[in-house]
Amino acid sequence: MTTVFWFTRDLRLNDNPALNRAVLDSHVAGGNSVVGLYVVDQQAYQALSGIRQHSLTESLKSLNTSMDGGLLVTNADSASELPRAMGEVVRAAQADRVIATRGFDPETVELQNKVGHYLASIGVKLFLEDSIYAVAPGTVRKPDGTPYKVYTPFYKGWMATGWQKPTPFAGLDDSGKTVITWHKPTADQGAPKPTKDSPIVVKAGEDFALRTWERFKKRALAGYAEDRNRADLSGTSHLSHALAHGEIHPRTLLAELGDLPGHEVFRKEIAWREFYGDVLWHHPYSATDYLEPRFKEMRYDEGALAEERLAAWKAGKTGYPMVDAGMRQLATTGWMHNRVRMIVASFLVKDLHLEWQLGADWFEQCLTDFDPASNSHGWQWTAGCGTDASPYYRVFNPVLQGLKFDPRGEYVRKYVPELAHIWGAQVHEPWDIIGGYAHGYPAPIVDHAAERDESLKRLEEIKLAKPAFAGK
Ligand SMILES: Cc1cc2nc3c(=O)[nH]c(=O)nc-3n(C[C@H](O)[C@H](O)[C@H](O)COP(=O)(O)OP(=O)(O)OC[C@H]3O[C@@H](n4cnc5c(N)ncnc54)[C@H](O)[C@@H]3O)c2cc1C
Repeated sequence: MTTVFWFTRDLRLNDNPALNRAVLDSHVAGGNSVVGLYVVDQQAYQALSGIRQHSLTESLKSLNTSMDGGLLVTNADSASELPRAMGEVVRAAQADRVIATRGFDPETVELQNKVGHYLASIGVKLFLEDSIYAVAPGTVRKPDGTPYKVYTPFYKGWMATGWQKPTPFAGLDDSGKTVITWHKPTADQGAPKPTKDSPIVVKAGEDFALRTWERFKKRALAGYAEDRNRADLSGTSHLSHALAHGEIHPRTLLAELGDLPGHEVFRKEIAWREFYGDVLWHHPYSATDYLEPRFKEMRYDEGALAEERLAAWKAGKTGYPMVDAGMRQLATTGWMHNRVRMIVASFLVKDLHLEWQLGADWFEQCLTDFDPASNSHGWQWTAGCGTDASPYYRVFNPVLQGLKFDPRGEYVRKYVPELAHIWGAQVHEPWDIIGGYAHGYPAPIVDHAAERDESLKRLEEIKLAKPAFAGK
């Protein structure tokens, strides 16, 4: 009997307990034959930005290489067609079971439910194992059994819960030889071909992720606690794409961390990802809606001027160098430094008075590390309507943030060529320089000080009208 393994956000062979179960089940059934299946939702794929299309395609190509060409890719026109497309493969394989990694975000939960029902209707069972987290969402709870809404106590509970050690791929024998046959019962469509251009050559895959992790450990982990906030340094791991696609599992990273300050802080950042996964699992509406509902009632800007400002923000033409550098880094690389994500998010919500979902949607289109939980809750944390005691009245000043986290101005000069002629930190304040606008850089579209006051005024309005959020 053949087992079908359905790859989703776990595009790797190592430390993949669900895949290992498929291998072991097929071994027990006597066939040692596994269908390693990826189903492309063509509608979703076509909607991705060029960089995101290229990045998914590269991840699948790399997985196929590590499977010696054994990955079976099949197409579905849309998410609603996906169960039927899977059913065809399962029938052709005469499989009695499909195994996959359990998803916890609302979209994946819904899809896996639909697939499970469809497969049941044709007499096939769907088994869901493991998760994309070290500790599955829903596991860490307060002593009274309710979920955490504040990061620090969650972190303590998460540490106390602990996680498994990474497990090697079960499809290899002791000498590293493959002991299973990847079976292809239907025609392989191959990794999807991008229909849009990418401004960069995207590198992806499990091997690349492991090499990135090795490089980071050697060069930057020790200094991570000090350097991770500096936009001008390469002080972070750049593993978010690999984690989002499951090319590496957080267990693999956590297993190698010790007690040094850089290690501690890195573990805490991994825990933010776990925390947001947990919060989204308990509050699925918060993928697209306000975690703290009273913020829905706030006055936000709409209409032609609001749209014009949104377009300027997306294009990196707000006239605030740090904001514009971040938005252009996103457009040209598919990634943005965490500190700068906070700066541009604060600017959209508190300087432009636009709803956080508009920014989150743009990030979803552009980020190769897009993750529903980290994105929605990264936005809501910054906007002040999400988890934790991040007060709404903390408004990032884009100039001061630039001076602090890009002190020599190198980050801005790299991404904003119209400002490349300005030396040093002065690049953050082109309005103070003779010739600062000589190369066509735009003037600020809003006055930060005035918009900060306006933002706080709008907060006062809802504070009077609605009861406060009961955190913790
Ligand atoms: C508005 C906003 C939107 C965001 N959207 C996403 C997203 O869609 N996908 C995503 O993976 N991250 C998102 N983040 C979190 C963070 O910016 C990225 O994870 C980080 O910049 C990735 O770079 P890195 O891999 O070099 O991180 P490192 O600093 O090396 O951290 C290691 C890993 O820890 C996790 N991590 C680090 N910081 C955070 C954080 N603040 N929240 C959650 N996880 C974290 C990531 O998985 C990251 O890869 C968002 C943050 C904000 C403020």
